[in-house]
Parts: sequence; structure tokens; C-alpha cells
Amino acid sequence: MIELDRVGKAYPTRQGVTHAVGEVSLAIGAGEFVSIVGPSGCGKSTLLNMIAGFLPPTAGEIRVDGQLVNGQVPPKLGYIFQKDTLLPWFSVRKNVALGLKFQGVAPDRIASRVAELLELGHLADFADAYPHQLSGGMRRRVALLMSLAVEPRILLLDEPFGALDTHTKTHLHRELIEIWRKLGQTIVMVTHDLDEAITLSDRVVVLSGPPSRVLLDERIAIPHPRDVFTLRETPQFTAHVQSLWSVLGQQFRAAA
Ligand code: ADP
Repeated sequence: MIELDRVGKAYPTRQGVTHAVGEVSLAIGAGEFVSIVGPSGCGKSTLLNMIAGFLPPTAGEIRVDGQLVNGQVPPKLGYIFQKDTLLPWFSVRKNVALGLKFQGVAPDRIASRVAELLELGHLADFADAYPHQLSGGMRRRVALLMSLAVEPRILLLDEPFGALDTHTKTHLHRELIEIWRKLGQTIVMVTHDLDEAITLSDRVVVLSGPPSRVLLDERIAIPHPRDVFTLRETPQFTAHVQSLWSVLGQQFRAAA
């Protein structure tokens, strides 16, 4: 569904050119959950922005469903940014409804779809609350529901749970797995948390420092349903941490 063919990105800067993404090739199948990890500054967010059509690559090609992404946002795409994108003056219900409103969906259809989503995200009791009344974890859940409202086939997640504590994150991991298993989107997630990547993904891709290239593309063969609370105690999980860290840790060392 998503193909990156020798994709590169160089940014012109006052000091010269920053080669963020060197040459990245990846093929991501429909319904796959792929995480991207790598040292900071290796172009992970840049890659997501290029897949989303927000930024054009300076080398190579990106195709979604066979169509060249050329600065055009592919249809049915959801994006969750690192920063909170909830509108503070709207209730949870109105925030979740926003995308559907933009699409011109009829009000009664919006009301029923939003109600469904709030059930899915265990937020029905907070429909009329405002963002400042929610915990960090709940706000991230609202952001997820906002992007699910328009029924995306592709979800791009940029460190969606970055600043949360492990307890809250683990609960959100369980919910994200449930939602993904139910709705079957293709998900590409950027994260700096290796445990999170292994817990959620079908594949974890390790990028090198800039200009980045793919160093390791590891299939996570842990079957579903995955129990996010006990997964980390399993030998399979530990083996993945070891093999991924042996490559990622080296990149961190090199960057230091
Ligand atoms: P990551 O998400 O892996 O931390 P980014 O994609 O945010 O990496 O950035 C990769 C590199 O490109 C960094 O060196 C960053 O400073 C640079 N960069 C990102 N956006 C721009 C931009 N708009 N102009 C110039 N340089 C940029």
C-alpha cells in the first residue's frame, strides 16, 4: 500500500544543505503496522511528512496505492502529531466531530458516528468535557478518535504517546491494538520507545543517523492477541529488544 523507493530529503539551510534522509526504500502492505526508530535527527518525522504529502522528497519516489505522492495528501489519511492538536474551546464531542464537519457530513450522521467513536475510545462519559479537563492520556485518545472519525485507511503516528508515563502508555497501547485489529488500517508510527515499537508492530525498521538509510527491518513474530501487560516478560520480546538494540544502540553511540 505504501512504497518508498530510494527516497531522500535534503533541506537547504543557511549553513548549506542538511541531508536528513539519505536513501530509504520500504514497502508496507495493507493492514500492516510498521514502526520506525532511529537516532534523533535521522529524518523520521520528515519521512512521515513525505508519506502524508506535506513535503516533497528531493530524491526517489513515494507511492500510496500505486499513486505517486507528489505533495498531494493521499485520500483517507489520518495523522497524529507529536503536539496536541485539540481545539481548547471545543468539547471532546466537537473536537471528534471536526473532520466530519469539514467533509460536510450530515449532522445526524456526525452525531451517531461520534457517539460510536467515543464508545470505542472509552470516552463516552467525557463527551462534554473540554481538553483542559482531561488527563494527558485522555487527550491523546481524543486525538486518535479525531483522526479515526474520517475512517482513514492509513494512519501516520508521530510519537503519539511520547510524553506519557509508562502506565498510561500501556493502557493506550492496548486500546490502539484493539482499534487496529478491529478496523485494520495500515499504520506507520515513529517512536523513540523500542518497547512500544515491539509491543505494537508487525515490523520495526531501524534507521541510521543522517543521511538515514534502513539498517534493519525486523518482523515481530509475536502472535495476536498480544497482552500488553505480560508481553515484556516473554523470551520473544526480550530477543527482539536485544536484536533491535544491538543496531539502534550502535547508532546512538555513534551520534554521541
Ligand atoms: P527526527 O524526526 O528523526 O528527529 P526530523 O525529520 O525532525 O528528524 O529532522 C531531520 C533533520 O532535518 C534534522 O537535522 C532537522 O534539523 C532537519 N530539518 C527538519 N525540518 C527542516 C526544515 N524545515 N528545514 C531545515 N532543516 C530541517
